[in-house]
Amino acid sequence: MSPLQASHEQRQNQSATPGVPAQAGAPVTAYPPPETGAAPGWPVILYFHHVDPDIRHYTAVTPEAFDRGLAQLGERFLPMEPQAVPSVLDKGGHPDPACLLTFDDGYTDVFEHALPIMERRGWRSVVFASVDLVGQIEQHPVRGPLRHMTWEQLAELTRRGHIVASHGSAHVALNRMDTAAAQADIDNAQDVLQERLPGAPDWLAYPFGELPGPGDVRLPSLCFGSVKASARAWDVAPHEIRRTYLPADEPQRWDSCMTEWRRAWDPSGSR
Ligand SMILES: [Zn+2]
Repeated sequence: MSPLQASHEQRQNQSATPGVPAQAGAPVTAYPPPETGAAPGWPVILYFHHVDPDIRHYTAVTPEAFDRGLAQLGERFLPMEPQAVPSVLDKGGHPDPACLLTFDDGYTDVFEHALPIMERRGWRSVVFASVDLVGQIEQHPVRGPLRHMTWEQLAELTRRGHIVASHGSAHVALNRMDTAAAQADIDNAQDVLQERLPGAPDWLAYPFGELPGPGDVRLPSLCFGSVKASARAWDVAPHEIRRTYLPADEPQRWDSCMTEWRRAWDPSGSR
């Protein structure tokens, strides 16, 4: 059984995604906590959804908290340039503690609030956008109306050193589609991104962190999972790269998260 298949089997028993209701009757298996960072020597990758004064979600922080978080991160990690992903992959990791920021869904608040803070502190990011939602207002059942960035804003991000990549087309979990539909969703997103933002890499962040179900789906070169993915080397598991998060509601946990993430370079954890 390949590592990808093995993790897929494990995944069948995982239904407790923060922010996503568990299916009734489904067995719940704990996924690694946010303190679990990356495999030894590999950059820790964080994901956020919102940087907004008013939105509450496990990966939504206020602009003030985001600023504080980047300050703390900057004391312990090098901000990883998103353009460095291929070379880090080629070299089998990063020699120094490094952190890559990512944002899922491409919400406008990221452009409005996160972008100036990142630029002031010397960080760039990968924004994973669902192409059908670009420029749309999403009526979210809990968070209310949510604006998604326009193509102009996404292009502006790339001009300012960020990378825009795929979060699928329709923002539906790929394991809820049949193989053909999942393939079409992935391929369409890549085609649209190439047309709108030439040079966008063929990377995918799975909506809801869910891999496609059983079946032969051709995946992009690098696929990013969520906190549900285990911490494995990118070259061992290029289609399920772990990402973790700063627990938005528990800033008192951030320091211990960062200490744990540093262990990928410093197993004794002395720094
Ligand atoms: Zn998403």
